[in-house]
Amino acid sequence: MNDAYHKLMDRIRDHGRLHAVEQLLDWDQETYMPSGGVKPRAELTALISGLAHERLVAEETGKLLSDAQAGDDDHIAQTNLRETRRAFERASRIPTALVKEIAHAGAMAKDAWAKARQDDKFQDFAPHLEKMVDLKKQVAEHVGYDTEPYDALMDEFEPGAKSAGIDTLFAALGERTAAFLRQIQASPTKPDFSILTRHYPRAQQEPLSRRMAECLHFDFGSGRIDVTVHPFCTSMGGASDVRITTRYMEDFLPAAMFGTMHETGHALYEQGLLAEHAFTPAGEAVSLGIHESQSRMWENLVGRSRAFWEYHYGDVQKMFPDSLGNVSLDEFYRAINTVSPSFIRVEADELTYNLHITLRFQIERAMIKGDIKVADVPEAWNAKMRELLGVVPPNNTEGCLQDIHWSMGIFGYFPTYALGNLYAAQFFDKASTDIPDLFERIAKNDHQPLLGWLRQNIHQHGQRFRAGELIERVTGKPLSIEPFMKHVTEKFSRVYGLKS
Ligand code: ZN
Repeated sequence: MNDAYHKLMDRIRDHGRLHAVEQLLDWDQETYMPSGGVKPRAELTALISGLAHERLVAEETGKLLSDAQAGDDDHIAQTNLRETRRAFERASRIPTALVKEIAHAGAMAKDAWAKARQDDKFQDFAPHLEKMVDLKKQVAEHVGYDTEPYDALMDEFEPGAKSAGIDTLFAALGERTAAFLRQIQASPTKPDFSILTRHYPRAQQEPLSRRMAECLHFDFGSGRIDVTVHPFCTSMGGASDVRITTRYMEDFLPAAMFGTMHETGHALYEQGLLAEHAFTPAGEAVSLGIHESQSRMWENLVGRSRAFWEYHYGDVQKMFPDSLGNVSLDEFYRAINTVSPSFIRVEADELTYNLHITLRFQIERAMIKGDIKVADVPEAWNAKMRELLGVVPPNNTEGCLQDIHWSMGIFGYFPTYALGNLYAAQFFDKASTDIPDLFERIAKNDHQPLLGWLRQNIHQHGQRFRAGELIERVTGKPLSIEPFMKHVTEKFSRVYGLKS
């Protein structure tokens, strides 16, 4: 490593710090900011994101990048240089004014989305969405692409992913899912899902959420849990300050309970990144698909396992005696593993969840291509819901207004959720081979073996390996839908009494 490398990393750390300030502003807007604060907050967010962008694309960064050197056996410095070059090249193509305009429009649109969702008025959100689509199309044109603009946007979240490849993957997954779903729906055995929609007082749900985060080793000394409309996880500087949010529904137990486990999974990844590499690529997550694999693993493969509830159910039953007093462990386990096509993505079961993602992928890809106009989104949404899931939402609040992403200009992000499910199943399959007593340990509330395995194989490496390389390195195979299909087929065949 030479002097230019160290100077470059100083710049990159400052860029990362400015980005963390932006995250903090976002977190505050979602949690505690009074609603009157939207306009000045949009200005603050635009200013900070502009400063961060300028710091990254400055001539000085380019100069240092061409002078910086990393030793042949120094994989940390090599990772930092490779990824800094990638970020610099991408960002340099996007004008700062456009970055600021998107940040400003996003802060305003988020507010408009929340109101439109509350009032079920898509028309109030439509002008904001039109503006966002237009701004992101401009980004795609600046960044450049081989075949279609959506690829340029997806690359920000899942480097190297291409629409055509995602389309093929989702088609194969969709076909297998639909066939298995038909078998499930034909089964006379049905879990009693209504158990979960009884009354669950928030006063008890709050300590339950905390308990779920705690038992999975969320570090409260370097993190906190707050409440938002749309749950998320954010980090203000590597592992040292990681915040998650959740939402409580008194007539739906899974929302906060599994929502918290999901966000805890994201948080464990952030808290497992090495603090000494904070604000540099060596201390950052690989991609959003890999990030989502962590949240989905803890939420579904651990949190919806029979072993997990063997330990926790008795205590949870005592927390909600009126609703769970007469419900057996088996009935509870089957209820939390009910497969049923529904309207809301974040509440979807493990099997049909990916179909919600296919829907969003197809619609946003078409919006960015210009094949669907914003005004036609509700109709397109409902048609796709009928086609893929066989149900149609009664209103736009439970349809195309349910997710926050488009208001923030996040197009190309949704595919990473389904990728996350596939990565999660493949990683977990390998972890359960490497840790032969994995489920016995989970049943004893001992999550250290799995967490240690994830720290060792995934977290500590930061961005050393790209997603495709990482999955092959860890599991010995490229990403495939097979481990996911094996997991859901085995589990739901048991729940629904089918021969697998
Ligand atoms: Zn997530």
